[in-house]
Amino acid sequence: MLKLDIQMFAVPFRKVSKTRKRMRRSHNAMDIPGMTKCPSCGEMIKPHRVCPKCGSYKGKVEVAKEEAE
Ligand SMILES: [Zn+2]
Repeated sequence: MLKLDIQMFAVPFRKVSKTRKRMRRSHNAMDIPGMTKCPSCGEMIKPHRVCPKCGSYKGKVEVAKEEAE
């Protein structure tokens, strides 16, 4: 038995052009996830972690800088 699919949902009136699609997606770019600025040295660091560059945490709480690795 031949069954015809009837579109019951909304269908776009016309094709979205390349330009229009690209203009819409110009805002969709992702930035670097989960990075914040170190308050003491300004380096981009991951939050809730000791800064690997200057060894500080939450501003002035200093942790001994590890020289290993
Ligand atoms: Zn730092």
